[in-house]
Order: sequence, then structure tokens, then C-alpha cells
Amino acid sequence: MQIAANTVVSLMYKLTNHTTGEQIEITDETNPLVFLYGVGSLIPDFEANLSGKTTGDAFDFSIEAANAYGVPSEEEIVMIPSNVFHDEHGHFDTEMFQVGALIPMSDGQGHQMRGRILEITDDVVKMDFNHPLAGTDLHFEGSILEIREATADEISHGHAHGPHGHQH
Ligand SMILES: [Zn+2]
Repeated sequence: MQIAANTVVSLMYKLTNHTTGEQIEITDETNPLVFLYGVGSLIPDFEANLSGKTTGDAFDFSIEAANAYGVPSEEEIVMIPSNVFHDEHGHFDTEMFQVGALIPMSDGQGHQMRGRILEITDDVVKMDFNHPLAGTDLHFEGSILEIREATADEISHGHAHGPHGHQH
């Protein structure tokens, strides 16, 4: 079977920084990446590079930052009034809120995101909401472990089920 729309793909890969060679993430046979192909759940260029591959095939490709997690934007660096972080007693938790900490936040529309604290002053906290991999050229190498037809349920849900997929 070949990788195409409405197949569920199981693969292992090593993700490295294409420029420095530094390892970012690794998956293996015991903990593979399993996903429904062709529904846009992954980086489009990642899926495009896997199109037509069959079980056992190896892959080795890179994706420029702009086509992966984007390039860092100044607009994603924001100043937030310190009192937003105060507890019910008006205190600032200096243990939780430190420079370098990743803080879960939600915007006005309830979207969840994480920001990294760059600087803390008495009045404001400067936070960076860029994706941690923004600006990084990615390199993937790995192999295809399994390909199967997606079930009707998986297609209607838009994700893979099973041990390494959604379990519900
Ligand atoms: Zn489901």
C-alpha cells in the first residue's frame, strides 16, 4: 500500500536542526508517530515528502523554517502588565514566573498558547509567543513502519485511532 489520502501512516523519525545538526525529537518503533494522512494535521511539506512511499521505505529531507514553524516575528513578543499575573492577594509568584519559564496563557478568544518570559520588571512582563521552533530549518530522517486504510470513523473524526492514535 502507498501513502495517500485516507491512509493511516505509522512511522519513526529523527528530527534535527538542519543547520546545527542538533537533535530535537526522536520517535522509534515502540512509540511511533501515527497519523491520518492528508487532513493537514502535520506540516504540509512533511506530508508532501511522504506521498507515495510504501512500508519499509526510508526518508531523508529538510524543510525550511518558513515552511515549517515559521520565522520569528516581533509581533509575537508582547508586554503584559504584571498585575495580570498576580494571585488573589495581589502577589506576584516569583517562583513560577521567572525569566525563561514557559507559561500557558489564553487569548481573548480562549485559544491556548504558551509564551516564554524574556524579561520581568515591576510593571510589565515581556513574553515571546513565537513557536519554539520558529526560525529553525528542520531535517527529518526515518522510515515508514506501517500503512493501512483509514476506517470510516477515522475519516469522519479526522484523526487516527488505535494504540498510538486517539483513544476514545
Ligand atoms: Zn476519533
